[in-house]
Amino acid sequence: MKRIQLLSKVSRVVIKLGTRVLTTRENRLDTSKIEELVEEFVWLRKKGIQLTIVTSGAITAGMKSLGLKIRPKNLAKLQAAACVGQSQLMRIYERLFKERGFIVGQILLTKDILAKKERYLNVRNTLSSLLSLNVIPIINENDSVAVDEIKFGDNDTLSALVTNLVEANLLIILSDVDGLYADYYRTDKSGRCYQRGKLLSCVENISEDIEKFAKRTNSPQSMGGMITKIQAAKTVLKKGKMALIANGERPKIIREIFAGKKVGTIFLPK
Ligand code: GLU
Repeated sequence: MKRIQLLSKVSRVVIKLGTRVLTTRENRLDTSKIEELVEEFVWLRKKGIQLTIVTSGAITAGMKSLGLKIRPKNLAKLQAAACVGQSQLMRIYERLFKERGFIVGQILLTKDILAKKERYLNVRNTLSSLLSLNVIPIINENDSVAVDEIKFGDNDTLSALVTNLVEANLLIILSDVDGLYADYYRTDKSGRCYQRGKLLSCVENISEDIEKFAKRTNSPQSMGGMITKIQAAKTVLKKGKMALIANGERPKIIREIFAGKKVGTIFLPK
């Protein structure tokens, strides 16, 4: 089946935004980039597609405000950065969506929602009532309280869980890479890619080779890198949903995806 046909069936989508997509090279929240993305999301909503956002960027934004040049090793400091950055992030989303007539609601999750069925169902009910009220849920890990035992650790993993939780048909992971590359992928010291092999447009089976490619595409700077993205794809594919990894820095990326253009790598369930 062609991409356009597969995508025309999507009625509910989860979009994960990586830190790199949301921040400048100086680690500030990039309001104009976020505004461009919000325009895309509003376009999607106006097409009648329900949307849940999983956002990163809080810790990096908080570090910038607190004058921390490197990611603190000290947990309490890291959590302080998350507190500061998370509220900045939400202020921006809230204003940009409100200007376009949409309401957003924040949910901060920790991994312990998986430990008890009751908690899991509570979160599921909250999300479903937000969606039925036309609110756009904006989710992040609750980094300011999460310690190792209750941590997802990266938002790729979290976004896969959310996709299954809200029963979306599609998970879109937007990062600063165009998708999954076969062959080589080289990055400079800052972790930005400068040379790459062939971009895979469609993956129908996450084989060992695919996982090997993911290891090569991994950027040393990002939280999860390609490996956690592939794991996230696996998690949603198991439930019969699709996943797509694409470059969030590309203008009008969401419209391109839904026009069926061959952007990013799409992962299809068996
Ligand atoms: N939750 C982290 C943050 O908001 C990001 C984790 C990730 O990028 O995977 O900064």
